[in-house]
Amino acid sequence: MTITHHLDEATLMGLSAGALPEALASVAACHLDVCPSCRKQLGELDMLGGALLEHIDPQPLSDGLSERMASYFRDDNVRSFPLHRTRGRHNNGKTRGEVPKPLQRFIGTSLDDLQWQWLAPGIRQYAIKLPDESRGSLRLLRIKAGMRIPEHGHGGSELTLILRGAYHDRFGRFGPGDVADLDEDAEHEPRVDKDGECICLVATEEAARFKGLLSRVLQPLTGI
Ligand SMILES: [Zn+2]
Repeated sequence: MTITHHLDEATLMGLSAGALPEALASVAACHLDVCPSCRKQLGELDMLGGALLEHIDPQPLSDGLSERMASYFRDDNVRSFPLHRTRGRHNNGKTRGEVPKPLQRFIGTSLDDLQWQWLAPGIRQYAIKLPDESRGSLRLLRIKAGMRIPEHGHGGSELTLILRGAYHDRFGRFGPGDVADLDEDAEHEPRVDKDGECICLVATEEAARFKGLLSRVLQPLTGI
């Protein structure tokens, strides 16, 4: 697997600080699983963050913060964010096949065995349920060979990891393992390669934003 497109530094910093919405952190974890270069960069940011913390004088916690932190670290809660916690560097085995290891416990190991739902002409989806209170939405999209998705923006951060096939847009060509780390200003018009379908894992910052994206993408296709 040759990876050309990586997580950007802001995303890695957000991940290191634990500030990335869970859906985006999940896609980042799946990329980290296959990308030694981003794992190295994340390790450096973690060390930098740790070093900075050591030089900050302790301050009393504000009202309620210690309780909120205690509740976050309660076992139940931590268990409910397994994708986020793995972050690619704690897992022992390597990803085999098309499904990244952090994702396997949620969808198994075969993309073809999933119950795909029709979403639009040429596009099917499989929604991945995140634990309640998770921020953002996570889904797989399966787009037919040669399909062009009309020019659109996103209205929020979006992370896309390619699992099968490839597409290209003005940012380059994206194949398996590549991640498209788009901020809300980025507009693009992706076109799937002619010789095969493309399956990608997509996280959007807020669930509602996917609907906005969807309507913008589908409007030219369906005339709604
Ligand atoms: Zn990378």
